[in-house]
Amino acid sequence: MNLTSRLRILVRSACFSLFQVINMKFSDITGHRNVVDSLRNLVDSDRIPHAILIGGPSGIGKMRLVRALVNYIYCLDRHNGDSCGKCPACLQNDHHNNPDLHFVFPRTGASTKSTDSFLPKWFEFLDESSFMPPEGWARHIEAANTVPVIYRSDADDISRTASLSSFAYRYKTYVIWLPERMQPQCANALLKLLEEPYPDTLFILVSNEPDKLLPTIFSRTQRFNLKPLPDEDISRMLTNAGLNSVEAHEVARLAEGSMLKALDIAGEGGEIKEFSSYYMQMMRLAYARNAGAVRMLSEGIAALGREKTGRFLAYCARMTRESFICNLHNPQLNVMTKSETDFNARFSPFVNHKNVERIMAEIQRAHTDVLRNGNAKLVLFDFMLKVMIQLRR
Ligand SMILES: [Zn+2]
Repeated sequence: MNLTSRLRILVRSACFSLFQVINMKFSDITGHRNVVDSLRNLVDSDRIPHAILIGGPSGIGKMRLVRALVNYIYCLDRHNGDSCGKCPACLQNDHHNNPDLHFVFPRTGASTKSTDSFLPKWFEFLDESSFMPPEGWARHIEAANTVPVIYRSDADDISRTASLSSFAYRYKTYVIWLPERMQPQCANALLKLLEEPYPDTLFILVSNEPDKLLPTIFSRTQRFNLKPLPDEDISRMLTNAGLNSVEAHEVARLAEGSMLKALDIAGEGGEIKEFSSYYMQMMRLAYARNAGAVRMLSEGIAALGREKTGRFLAYCARMTRESFICNLHNPQLNVMTKSETDFNARFSPFVNHKNVERIMAEIQRAHTDVLRNGNAKLVLFDFMLKVMIQLRR
């Protein structure tokens, strides 16, 4: 069996066992020790802020940390600075039937559906996708071609239930995943709740892009910024999942601090492999000035859906950087897979000081346009034509 197949099997089994989010405790969290200690102290000293913002890039374990925090807050038998995992509160949290714990998340179907109708899918996703890729959620609710959002009506639901007293425990908690996806009216309604909080009502905002929140919301929260995971932490998690240390080290180096990316590189997701194949085709066709084939390719990529197209463009930005760095002839500065390295051995001279800034600017513009609901086919085609011009500079 070759290495890729072996990694695939190891990581697939790891996704469903080692990383499954059942009975999450502080001791299960890899990295982020300072934040864990601060949160634990706040609970221990009965000074839990009414609004907490856990921010940081996707794929570093923010929701795992929040699940451990929630368990710690509700646990009836805390000891050694951790939840017990066995008391009725811990079990209710695990089984998703704590009546005082609410989740709010981006979804589709503003007026036709309620958040409640998404809950079964939400809990599946929460338990099985421990590093919570937003695009994985969009796929899970079959919304790959739209960007799910948090609607005004979701904030109304919060207001309604927040005004009631809690059912079983002291605290009522609202965990809001991706608050940056709140519609403006929703954000304003939430702001009111944060400004005049009900007693013993906690809001925990879990954000991949905290700088996109309303500054007024941002400033009402106590903020904890989680940093990308160090390579050693990712490597250790992968080793625990069964990869040998050389493989784990290699994957960790490419993962840019994201466990999600590490699993994608090592595992079946293979998105990087797919993107790298599209990227290489795109550059070859652009260099050959084959506009007809470029057009077909842009249509093929746009068909992947808006969010995935956005990630493809992020991949293009990374590869452009890597190509440019190749020209410095200091391989230690490059972080690429074997096939990316092989490709760049010949391609990198075409990305140089004359065009690198323009290419990066075009990628950025296409990325913004695609995510803002521009016609992805046209945006991509236009982008590739501009790359075509730049490559010949
Ligand atoms: Zn407990």
